[in-house]
Amino acid sequence: MRHYNIPIFIPELACPHRCVFCNQSYITGQVEIPQYTDIQNIITKYLETIPQDNTVIQVAFFGGSFTGLPIEIQQNYLHAALTASVGRISGIRISTRPDYITPNIVKMLVDNGVTHVELGAQSMDEEVLKLANRGHEPHHVELASKFILDAGLTLGLQMMIGLPGDDSEKSAKTAEKIVELGATETRIYPTLVIRDTALEKWWQQGKYSPLSLNEAVKLSSKLYNYFTQNHVKVLRTGLYPSEDLNSGAGFLAGPFHPNFNELVMSRIWRDRLEKFLKEPPLVNEVFVAKNKLNHAVGFQSCNKTYFLEKGYKLRYHIDNQLEGEGFYVDYRG
Ligand code: SF4
Repeated sequence: MRHYNIPIFIPELACPHRCVFCNQSYITGQVEIPQYTDIQNIITKYLETIPQDNTVIQVAFFGGSFTGLPIEIQQNYLHAALTASVGRISGIRISTRPDYITPNIVKMLVDNGVTHVELGAQSMDEEVLKLANRGHEPHHVELASKFILDAGLTLGLQMMIGLPGDDSEKSAKTAEKIVELGATETRIYPTLVIRDTALEKWWQQGKYSPLSLNEAVKLSSKLYNYFTQNHVKVLRTGLYPSEDLNSGAGFLAGPFHPNFNELVMSRIWRDRLEKFLKEPPLVNEVFVAKNKLNHAVGFQSCNKTYFLEKGYKLRYHIDNQLEGEGFYVDYRG
């Protein structure tokens, strides 16, 4: 089965908050709120490109805070998604703020076909949330998670790394709390300095320094391993590269890379393989599943280069018997 998400972005018009790092129009590349027919058109267009068989399709409302929209708009959007997809989608995913979830809201979501709710937890550290001007506290995340799970929905808790006042220890604690709260999905977003945000001022005044790309990749790979060991699926690391981020129009500083997720997966495979490699004259024959070869070799062959520079002799092979993360190394020579 192949999984497809049909993404629909709801910009910050849905959100009266102003978190220090957020300028949704730059992040999503979109400023106008979509209309009912826009949603139907997006879904119809996507469905034309997705095969009919062996597919699991979800409509995903991202950006902004879905449940911060007036209730009629939420119901309209969900109705548009259900009618446009003519029975082809298996569920609807929304993302929202933890303090915009109540039992009544959850009930409305369930009644209108929502199956997955992702909350922007961002951090479970009180001080970090305060500095980020999130406008909610850790207990809001705890309560909202309970309402979502009690209703039988799938819970996703998104986190950020590199927020003001944050560090790798606090991030690890946030990850532990995410597991403890029963989330089965997460996303890891590195904090970026985006134009026209409070963070831009702090960065210009020297009060805030973002993580370097290397630090963000390293921390994300550690968190990724922790989550997968604890059966929490990491849906993504790094922001979706909107046009504004890619072109640099909205982006000022921080660990942005259009292939951030690839860099993280490469790092995970580098660390994984390194433990098993043996010094020359032995040649390390590395066997991996077909769909993991790119990660094992690394983004733009970065792992291959890394091991070569360390003096290892290494050859990559596909073993069709292998699945998922499985791999083994044969030593020749
Ligand atoms: S709650 Fe979300 S959409 Fe609103 S300002 Fe904060 S990050 Fe941006």
